[in-house]
This record gives sequence, C-alpha cells and structure tokens, in this order.
Amino acid sequence: MPKPRLLVHICCAPDAAYVIGLLRENYDVTGFFSNPNIQPAEEYERRLEEARKVAAILGVRLIEDGYDPSRWMRVTHKFRHEPEKGRRCDVCYAFRLERTARTASGLGFDGFTTIMSLSPWKKAAALNRIGKMFGRRHGVEFLEADFKKKDGFRKSVALSKDLNLYRQDYCGCLYSRRGDKGTPDEPKKALR
Ligand code: SF4
Repeated sequence: MPKPRLLVHICCAPDAAYVIGLLRENYDVTGFFSNPNIQPAEEYERRLEEARKVAAILGVRLIEDGYDPSRWMRVTHKFRHEPEKGRRCDVCYAFRLERTARTASGLGFDGFTTIMSLSPWKKAAALNRIGKMFGRRHGVEFLEADFKKKDGFRKSVALSKDLNLYRQDYCGCLYSRRGDKGTPDEPKKALR
C-alpha cells in the first residue's frame, strides 16, 4: 500500500534533515520552502540553498514558494515590538501554514505539516492549533507534532553538524535578528 503523501513546510535545512528523516518512515514526503519572514534576502537565499542541499541528500522533492517579504512585513508590522514567541510569531506561523495548507490542497496531498515545532523557540501548541484551523479551511489534514520531544533538537544539531549544514543564529525576521523586542541591538549569537 502506498504511503500517504505529505507536504512538509521547511523553515531551515538543519531542522529539515532530522524531521524529514523521521517522517519518511511513514509518509511520502515533499518539502515546501515558504518563508517570506526571512530577511535580508541574502540570508533567505542561503537558507534556501541549504534546504535544496538537504532535499537532494534525502532524495525528496522540494517545492519553492515565491519570496515576497513585503506582504509579510505588512501583516506583522503591528506586532513588531512583541518578543519572540509572542503574537508576531503566531501571525508568522499562520502566514506560512496557510500557504502550505492551500498548496497541499491544490496539489492533492493527503496531509501537511511543518517542521517548526522542532525548535525550542517555537510553540508547538500554537503551531498545531493554527495548522488544524487551516487544514479544516482548505480540506486537507494537518499532522500535529512536537518534534522537539524525544531529544529531537539535540539530535538535529548533531545530524546537521555531520552533514556540514549552515545553522543560523537568529530565527529569521529582522526583529529576531536585532533582539527580542525589535530594538536595534547586536545580533543574537545563539545557534538555532
Ligand atoms: S521570530 Fe521567527 S517565528 Fe517569530 S515572527 Fe520572527 S521569523 Fe517569525
């Protein structure tokens, strides 16, 4: 019996390498790179290139969404002073999961999910709530997950080192680069 076809939203290569490896055991996985939150453009290109590399290593197809940060900036602007994990992040999750759900539905996938819950800086409960909402709206099942469980993040750090993947030191938007409160501080140095 063929495995269900799952569209997996990918935010970065190091996390994708671990999570896609897991999901491939039970699903026919296609990656979906949809991240207009990432700025500046050179950083976006670098993360996309790394995602292509992981897709090639794992032998999965990668669908690349367009890159238009201006709309993302408009919808998150009012929350620019929120700390990371605050309301700006909920809007950012929704922006990307809505596009993933619409794409999964349009291309006839059996379901969709995101790898984002692997990160300790992401709220799995919010991702699952928002994913299910867009799944219902677009008539495609959302696979709930919290990939950081079972030591997932540490395993992903080890695997990404083995594969020599670029691991960023901020989440993606300029607000996260400049500090939790959107102030023009020095970039944060913790690896993600
Ligand atoms: S900190 Fe990360 S999740 Fe939150 S708005 Fe910025 S890019 Fe999106």
